[in-house]
Amino acid sequence: MSERKRTGVVVVGSINMDMVAHGMRLPAPGETLVGQQFVMAPGGKGANQAVAAARLGAQVAFVARVGTREHGPALLRALADEGIACEGVVRDGQALPGIAVIMVASEGGENAIVYVPGSNAELSPDDVAASKDALQTAAVVVAQLEVPVPAIAEAFALARATGATTVLNAAPALKVPEALLGLSDWLVLNETEAAQLSGLAGAREAAQALLQRGPRTVVVTLGAEGVLLADAGGRLEHLPAQAVQAVDTVGAGDTFVGGLATGLAEGRSAAEALRLGQAAAAIAVSRSGVQSAMPRRAELGAAFA
Ligand code: ATP
Repeated sequence: MSERKRTGVVVVGSINMDMVAHGMRLPAPGETLVGQQFVMAPGGKGANQAVAAARLGAQVAFVARVGTREHGPALLRALADEGIACEGVVRDGQALPGIAVIMVASEGGENAIVYVPGSNAELSPDDVAASKDALQTAAVVVAQLEVPVPAIAEAFALARATGATTVLNAAPALKVPEALLGLSDWLVLNETEAAQLSGLAGAREAAQALLQRGPRTVVVTLGAEGVLLADAGGRLEHLPAQAVQAVDTVGAGDTFVGGLATGLAEGRSAAEALRLGQAAAAIAVSRSGVQSAMPRRAELGAAFA
């Protein structure tokens, strides 16, 4: 029997085509504005985190459902170009792939978004179970909340059965069933998401309360302030971010989670894995774009060689 390939990180999540139109300002209802620029680029929290981890050198497999009409083939090609294993990506001939139509105002940077989940909303526990081998040989399994919770729960249950580490990025801010929190080793979320999920305003209070609901480690990301780490061993630590000139912070969270997962899959300590995520996110925010801004491992320097 041939040896089974061990995949470092499995990401279960969403994939979309982002369609971004830049105008001087956002149009009023009913108004047509002439814009300056249009960019179409792959996105979705799942795909973003998979790309972030792959760029940082992790062996990555993606579990998702992608509509093969319209932009589907381009989305699949983009994943393959990053060296991401796509055997677990279910091709759906009926549904449209996820689409985000984004308007950005060049004056002030405000945006308005219409997100149509398309095939992301159809990811089922059976789709995920078809990737059982990959999930059970992974070191780390990562998910976010842009695909249905039952699919994530199936992935985490399979991963947990063989001792893989599960990382739930509870984004966007939605309710999370207690059963899913119980299947999550790591819970990563920003301040807004932490406040919403815990019902508590302060990051420290929120992190400590969330620890009581299942995860053994909770990480609250604080933007330019860095992260707050709380764990079941009683540790409560603030790790500051690297000081950089931020140009575009969209996707900072996804780059951070991809880096954290990479570090954990390499067997690094919690603090080192968090620093890897922070170092990658600091580079990403210093350039424009989301996936296009994510760094390769060599850019992180000798500390993470
Ligand atoms: P987004 O939704 O925009 O992707 P987020 O709200 O999920 O982001 P943030 O807390 O903004 O996540 O950022 C995640 C991590 O990225 C931070 O903990 C920090 O390490 C890094 N980061 C974000 N903004 C900056 C910044 N301006 N300078 C340096 N590092 C940053």
